Amino acid sequence: MDKRGYTRRQFINKSTCAVCALAFPLAWGEWTEFVGGEEKEAMFYTPTPRGIKCRLCPHQCTIKEGDTGDCRVRYNKGGKLFTRAWNNPCAVHVDPIEKKPMLHFLPGTTSYSLAIAGCNFTCLNCQNWEISQTSPDKTRNYDLSPEQVVNQAKKEGCRSISYTYSEPVTFFEYTLECSRQARKAGIKNIVVSNGYINPAPLAEWCKVIDAANIDLKSFDDEIYTMLNNGSLEPVLNTLLKLKENGIWLEITNLIVPEWTDDMDMIRRMCQWLAKNGFKDTPLHFSRFYPQYKLNKLQPTPENILKKAREIALGQGLQYVYIGNIPGRNYADTFCPNCHSLIIERVGYTLRQSKLNKGKCGVCGHIIPGVWE
Ligand code: SF4
Repeated sequence: MDKRGYTRRQFINKSTCAVCALAFPLAWGEWTEFVGGEEKEAMFYTPTPRGIKCRLCPHQCTIKEGDTGDCRVRYNKGGKLFTRAWNNPCAVHVDPIEKKPMLHFLPGTTSYSLAIAGCNFTCLNCQNWEISQTSPDKTRNYDLSPEQVVNQAKKEGCRSISYTYSEPVTFFEYTLECSRQARKAGIKNIVVSNGYINPAPLAEWCKVIDAANIDLKSFDDEIYTMLNNGSLEPVLNTLLKLKENGIWLEITNLIVPEWTDDMDMIRRMCQWLAKNGFKDTPLHFSRFYPQYKLNKLQPTPENILKKAREIALGQGLQYVYIGNIPGRNYADTFCPNCHSLIIERVGYTLRQSKLNKGKCGVCGHIIPGVWE
């Protein structure tokens, strides 16, 4: 029994899945039997006559007494907003950082990766719907305080902690406290997020995170509404803010057949990125596999991903990768100046690097990233 009287069990393999990969087993730890986490008051809310207005994400849910917000995580109790996401990750794993995907940030290192259940989107194609489309009191969870997270990350030799797999916006307070403690211990923090967060909490993130991979799910507001239950503009604002704050940024665009595979839309997206200062930002076109409510669709054809990459390069984006296709060299890094192969990868493993102090080892061109 743990300190709250819950039965605890030694670890039993249990599958969840990564944002960029298929199911994988949890690898470490001890988990609580069935725990919703300790009661923790949430940040960013305002009481109104109709209930509590949550100001964490652009949904701005108004939550009546006893009710929970759209993300299934934040609830109104006695006129205060609480979060169910505290000390209770349902997925914990040591991943290669390349799996996030993060290709220009401490390559070849491992990242202590965790998630708490819940999400503020309802993507029809979610790869992780078993943990994103439920609430933290319905998953089997580890019992891990921020201090324990940092200690475990250190023990595992991880250079960073990644808040990933589900949606870190909805376990915001936990990401913040873990990040603060990680910083003190010299460990970097990475969010892998849909970027659907309001400016004030984003400003708090910017104080403690070092890198982000943001999903830019499409470049069309209507598709965002129908496919994801979100909207485009807040995500674009998040990209701009992260860049302005010097957070290392990589962007992922999952190409879903029949939904987000329109090449004109992809061209408009790349034009916007090029115009707004993201030419140096790695862009990952990711292959869709049949999932969740879109399980009848075929995987994204390889030629569609290659076409998207050509479009992005044509618009001046310099580091364009294709992800989720095993056995190809689409994750290699080439120098945009002399076109030499600088970093060769096999799957998530670094095979060789000709990078010299952040510069191309052949021509000396600066390759943006956090390399040391
Ligand atoms: S974080 Fe959750 S409760 Fe708050 S506005 Fe977003 S969906 Fe609603």
